[in-house]
Amino acid sequence: MSSFNILVVEDEDAIRGMLMMVLEQSGFEPVIAADAEEAQKALDDNPPDLILLDWMLPGISGVEWARRLKKEPIYRDIPIILLTARGEEEDKVRGLEIGADDYITKPFSPKELVARIRAVLRRSGKIQGLAQITLGDLILDTEQHRLSIGDKQLEVSPTEFRLMHFFMTHPDKVYSRTQLLDQVWGRSVYIEERTIDVHIRRLRKILEEYGREDLVQTVRGFGYRFSIAD
Ligand code: CA
Repeated sequence: MSSFNILVVEDEDAIRGMLMMVLEQSGFEPVIAADAEEAQKALDDNPPDLILLDWMLPGISGVEWARRLKKEPIYRDIPIILLTARGEEEDKVRGLEIGADDYITKPFSPKELVARIRAVLRRSGKIQGLAQITLGDLILDTEQHRLSIGDKQLEVSPTEFRLMHFFMTHPDKVYSRTQLLDQVWGRSVYIEERTIDVHIRRLRKILEEYGREDLVQTVRGFGYRFSIAD
């Protein structure tokens, strides 16, 4: 894969350093900015393939800068992932309303960050011909709608495939049944929450044949987490 320029806008040194390291290790080319002004300069020098943007910045906030970029025809198509310490649902909605392509809540794992960046690059058409999402030995082929573990292909229904697609691009975080419904089935579809449990059970049963039922974890009283051991 050719390397992608990622513009990282973050005012906290420690987080910036961590992002830099993770991105470089994953084969990306990060460019760093500490605030929106620096980011604007970096953007004009060399337009990035994606912007990782902290919500809370000194001066112009991340969300305000994102709003401005999304109004400019020359910048509009650069995908933006907002980083935030806030986990509030209304902030998320606000972030997505101004045109951010995705939203990651701190703290996040390096694995999650890289999975989300790849998913956004793929959705925005920047990664072409790369229809495979891999996580450990799991391979999800989004063109052929195939899921495999190593070289063994698994038999999954379209719903279980979508569920796996969501899980593999959002590893290590807990999602409630409502969140999974919104993300996997969409808000306009009415489905009872226990339907999710049915699909999760089926998915686990399939994974169980490969001794991998532990990938989908139940978090009592909250929901589910997808996690692969390192
Ligand atoms: Ca900050």
